Amino acid sequence: MNRPNLAKFDPELEELIELEEKRQEDGLLMIPSENLASPAVLEAAGTVLTNKYAEGYPQKRYYTGNQYIDKIEQLAIDRAKELFCAEHANVQPHAGSQANLACYFALLQPGDTIMAMNLAHGGHLTHGHPVSLSGKLFKFVHYGVRQDTEMLDMDEVEKLALEIKPKMILSGFTAHPRAVPFSRFAEIAKKAGAYAMADMSHIAGLVVGGVHESPVPTHDVVMTTTTKTLRGPRSAVILCKEQYAKQIDKSVFPGMQGGPLEHIIAAKAVCFKEAMTDEYKEYQKQVAKNAKALAYTLMADGLRLVSGGTDTHLMIIDCTNLEFSGKQGADILAECNIYTNFNMIPFDTRKPADPSGIRLGTPALTARGMKEKEMQIVGQLIADLLKNHSEEQKNMTKQAVTELVKSFDDK
Ligand SMILES: *Cc1c(COP(=O)(O)O)cnc(C)c1O
Repeated sequence: MNRPNLAKFDPELEELIELEEKRQEDGLLMIPSENLASPAVLEAAGTVLTNKYAEGYPQKRYYTGNQYIDKIEQLAIDRAKELFCAEHANVQPHAGSQANLACYFALLQPGDTIMAMNLAHGGHLTHGHPVSLSGKLFKFVHYGVRQDTEMLDMDEVEKLALEIKPKMILSGFTAHPRAVPFSRFAEIAKKAGAYAMADMSHIAGLVVGGVHESPVPTHDVVMTTTTKTLRGPRSAVILCKEQYAKQIDKSVFPGMQGGPLEHIIAAKAVCFKEAMTDEYKEYQKQVAKNAKALAYTLMADGLRLVSGGTDTHLMIIDCTNLEFSGKQGADILAECNIYTNFNMIPFDTRKPADPSGIRLGTPALTARGMKEKEMQIVGQLIADLLKNHSEEQKNMTKQAVTELVKSFDDK
């Protein structure tokens, strides 16, 4: 037991945490936005730093007693800058959604036009969905993938940009399996006289691992969650050119947020240090190799993947020709302890709450030490189950998952 106080005071909650620990250990976690943070990251997040108020920035706080907090936050800032070769870093955004809004408010006025990815084609809610504050306060014009290839047509994006003349062009996606052509996006933004912003939330780890182009050299501002492939705590960071540093900082605090979560900032500092190791870069390369192996197995077994594959850590199974929706498919998989999420596919004929896609990826399985060989096994299990979900098949799958994860117990 590593939480004796909690177990004593609140056994009900402790038990639920233990059940969740067991669920994570016993299942195949394949939701591509999830990952396994290291014990060091978790330890940093669970510290007395949560007790401290530190509104402001290092050396410019509105509270006393921040001599150590300042050093901790500065460590996180310096490491973020070094890791991503960025001129400026703000490590205070609580999460990705706040970071995105802070970037918009730093550079734009409410009502300004932002060009971003169609949400059904892989954009994020904070890229202008009408239910999100982003969509309520800014005017979004969306580009999308071509229907025949399900890939971006950058000439079309350029044409739209020159016609619309947006104030900002945003790239980076949450459910598009292909590489983001960052330098082309930056070029188009320049031509159109727009700010170039990148949201590399899903792929920041791959960028560090050298498996994906970095947007940092070419973009005015870049943000990322520190979860997902990056494998840190549930939070975010903004990177920008020095000339926007003041605007970004002011937009985060006092613009968007109050006191920063210094315990989470400490956990981010640990994550950035981990990300500088060779072992981490190897891990990221393996994430991408595993995704290729998994995609190959799924397709060889007759499943259709959006865009016919993946360049990243994630892929989307199109359930249109199967006998159930993406939601039903994800539920069947979850019954057998294989966790994925349902997702819209481009030009989906179904609704967001019950769409046609199943989104899945390899970051957490790779974190447990799985390689191509295991991806073939996992791919086969998924494909077999989606073709035949009799009770017998479900039981067999559950059993196979248990055996597979057992062999990775002490990784
Ligand atoms: C996850 C994600 C976000 C939002 O992050 P939260 O921490 O959940 O608020 C923003 N943009 C993209 C592309 C994402 O994938």
